[in-house]
Amino acid sequence: MSRSRPPAYVDHRFTVHDVLDPRWLQLSFAVSFAFAMGLLAVGGATLEPASLLGAASLLCLAVTAVVMVLPWPRVPRPVAVLVPVLDIGALGLCALDPAGWAVAPLLVLPVLWMAGTYYRVGAIGAGLAALLLFGLPSTAYLGTDGGTLAWSVLVPLAVTALGLAFVEGIDRLNVDRDELGRQRVALHAAARTIAEQRRFADAILDTVDVGLVLLDHTGAIRTMNDQLEAFMRQAFPRGRSAEDFFAYDVDGVTVLAREEMPEQRAIRGEEFDDCLIWVGEDPKGRRALSVSARTVRDESGGLVGATLAYKDVTEFVRALRVKDEFVASVSHELRTPLTSIRGYVDLVLDGNDVGEDSRAFLRVAARNGERLQRLVADLLHTVQTDAGSLHMIREPADLAAVVRDSVDTARSAAEAAGLELTCETPGELWAVVDGQRIAQVVDNLISNAVKYTPSGSVHVSLAVEDRVQIEVTDTGIGIDSMDRDHLFTRFYRARHAQDQSIQGVGLGLSIIKSIVESHGGRIEVESEVGRGSRFQVRLPLDLLRPDVPRARSNELSRPTA
Ligand code: ADP
Repeated sequence: MSRSRPPAYVDHRFTVHDVLDPRWLQLSFAVSFAFAMGLLAVGGATLEPASLLGAASLLCLAVTAVVMVLPWPRVPRPVAVLVPVLDIGALGLCALDPAGWAVAPLLVLPVLWMAGTYYRVGAIGAGLAALLLFGLPSTAYLGTDGGTLAWSVLVPLAVTALGLAFVEGIDRLNVDRDELGRQRVALHAAARTIAEQRRFADAILDTVDVGLVLLDHTGAIRTMNDQLEAFMRQAFPRGRSAEDFFAYDVDGVTVLAREEMPEQRAIRGEEFDDCLIWVGEDPKGRRALSVSARTVRDESGGLVGATLAYKDVTEFVRALRVKDEFVASVSHELRTPLTSIRGYVDLVLDGNDVGEDSRAFLRVAARNGERLQRLVADLLHTVQTDAGSLHMIREPADLAAVVRDSVDTARSAAEAAGLELTCETPGELWAVVDGQRIAQVVDNLISNAVKYTPSGSVHVSLAVEDRVQIEVTDTGIGIDSMDRDHLFTRFYRARHAQDQSIQGVGLGLSIIKSIVESHGGRIEVESEVGRGSRFQVRLPLDLLRPDVPRARSNELSRPTA
């Protein structure tokens, strides 16, 4: 928007000259006068130049002729006021003729003219002029007989009142006009501020490397920045309304349905973050965009539009892929030699030809080999989960046996740590699950409980209520509420665990979560620092085999110590 000046609002009082050229004012008086003379002539009055009416007509004609040639509006105001005064004089001349009194109503025109130009002074001045040039001469000339005296006084009075009322009207008009003028100035200033802010907003929009768009409720674009236009050109090279477009789902291959495009979802009222899509016709040059959307609503909550932000995360996604591929291949490469090392160490340990010292060293090697194997398996699991290639083998498995086996496996570690390990399960509980992975969940929870419990007990239970529920409760160090929200995040370790130098890499719980969720379940934790923790795995009831009677599932085996 150009820096235009504010409208010329000049605070001066309005006059009739602002609206009407004096030439028009005089012309309208002259026409009315001529019409009045015509009517009088029809009534028998004489208009000869020597008569009063004739002289008045000549005076009116002369004034009109002069007004027509005067260089308005450069004529000084005192001169201008002479015109209506002379008009009143012409009417006064008429009033000297008894028949000419009829022109009295024409006084209205010069009176309004004067009042409209000089306000109250003009109105009173016009009244005085009417008295001196119209009322008094006619009374003096015609006498006070009949109504002449009354007319001579009342007519000037009436026109003065009329002039004053007119001035009052003009005053009100002026007040309104002033207010309007001020509002116009304020409006202009507001429009300028809006335009300036818009320029700032446009500059900001075009500075950021994020594509931004604002849509109205119909999905039409209200505003967007250059970056977004560039993204859109990749997705819709032949225009947004063209049949073919190049937007793909998170895998970079599946074409997105139009209604699944982020903009369409946002216009339906959805809000989301980090929705990953790929755009671009050429598979090699495709860009990954992370899209976030927020809806815009009016005071009553109705949807009026949506804003979307598109961030180019191609390099990041590629780097993640490279990292995953790297971790996956390294883990694969490590797994085989590790299995072989562990196998041979176990073989040597099983033999009798090793001295006690060497046996102790070999046990350390075996323990660390086992840890390394677990770590490699965890890393591989993480990569597979990310790639969506985590393979689940669901078969009927006895969950009770799975839990008891895990408890038995952990028993020696618990005893070594001086902990009491108890278990409470039904006799058997068959469910269609990936038994090995569920065992991995329970193993991990029990080994964590043992690891993070310096003294006291660990209790494991399996029960069926509204869900299948596996609980591992310990009396250990507990988890701070600040840590609890991040516990299932990869590589996250609670402050307490790190402070006490308890070994771990922070992958176990994230893996457990992915396994439990892939069975349609969820995992929850309750904990108090210094008092212990309770991890609860809840699996849906429909995993239970229908042919296994519920009563049997609920039969609890005796707690084992
Ligand atoms: P890791 O045990 O290898 O560090 P996990 O993912 O299994 O990794 O656990 C993440 C973090 O959760 C641990 O570092 C620890 O701080 C906390 N944690 C897990 N289980 C317990 C528990 N039973 N008691 C206290 N803290 C725990």
